[in-house]
Amino acid sequence: MSEKNIQVLLARRPTGEVLESDFEIVSSEVPPIQKGQFLVRNHYLSLDPYMRGRMSDAPSYAQPVALGDVMVGGTVGEVVASEHAAFKPGDMVVGALGWQLYGVSDGTGMTKITERDIPLSAYLGVLGMPGVTAYVGLMDIGAPQAGETVVVSAASGAVGSVVGQLAKIHGCRVVGIAGGQEKCRYVTDELGMDACLDYKAGRLGEDLDRAAPQGIDIYFENVGGPTFDTVLGRMNPFGRIPVCGMISQYNALEPYGVKNFRSVLMNRLKVQGFIVSDHLARWPTALKALGQGVREGRIKYRESIAQGLENAPAAFIGLLAGKNFGKQLVKLI
Ligand code: NDP
Repeated sequence: MSEKNIQVLLARRPTGEVLESDFEIVSSEVPPIQKGQFLVRNHYLSLDPYMRGRMSDAPSYAQPVALGDVMVGGTVGEVVASEHAAFKPGDMVVGALGWQLYGVSDGTGMTKITERDIPLSAYLGVLGMPGVTAYVGLMDIGAPQAGETVVVSAASGAVGSVVGQLAKIHGCRVVGIAGGQEKCRYVTDELGMDACLDYKAGRLGEDLDRAAPQGIDIYFENVGGPTFDTVLGRMNPFGRIPVCGMISQYNALEPYGVKNFRSVLMNRLKVQGFIVSDHLARWPTALKALGQGVREGRIKYRESIAQGLENAPAAFIGLLAGKNFGKQLVKLI
């Protein structure tokens, strides 16, 4: 094989903001395969906020990436050589082969993409981990009822955009929160949410009072920090808060101190953190519903695509600063 493999390694553990120098880009031979393995040429790499946690060795639900190892990450690509009975050259597969052009797999955690009417990249977003996250968090923990008011933060992003559209499909009034007018216009005009509030305008509390005058029944939490506090103080009795992410805190050196926790008791709230990989049994149901929604045009999605693995570190740093607009991917081919 004439092409070389290119890999992005974790070179340093960041303190606070991630820097490009925390990564090292190396070139090596394309790895050989053994019996029971296959080689994949990746077409897209997914960049996701959880990767910030894997760069750190602070205690977490998952092991950190070791220094010098390839960064973890979801990928879609084509099988180009195989010594595995179930995977043949030409098969398109989705899995987690990391920040590299080529990856070797024994099939663990790899799924063949058999339906090709939807672009491959969607299997890393709306029809992949972020889409299932939205489905599990909203449907299983949020348990939306028609007529309820749902608020979702990071509403234009990979998870939030699906949450908002699913909640609309289930008959809820949906208020998105996003950074900036352009993202907010997309959330209402394209995704069909009823309102979208720009938290960067600095008056989220007043805006929420206007957009959700009956209070909030479900808050799908993606960001943490002051946004969480502001919404917490406006929850209705017996409201639900699926705690999906806290992106505003991932680079923080000092954790934000929540002021309105009293609302959890006064309003008898259910506040439940969840990690999508703990809910593997729900993936088939979620993916079926999401696939149907996408095919029928009821669930839309948007992508930010960086070109080339060498641009992955900058794109990842941008994702943590809200520079992405929709699912952040890196095109590798
Ligand atoms: P997005 O596509 O939504 O991209 C991240 C967005 O977060 C940015 O575009 C930005 O949007 C927003 N953001 C960044 N910094 C801040 C900040 N300081 N304050 C407020 N918002 C900020 O990412 P995903 O949809 O992939 O992920 C959304 C959340 O879901 C993350 O917290 C992630 O960790 C979590 N997650 C959790 C999973 C689980 O299993 N529990 C699985 C997958 C994701 P804006 O410009 O609008 O601020």
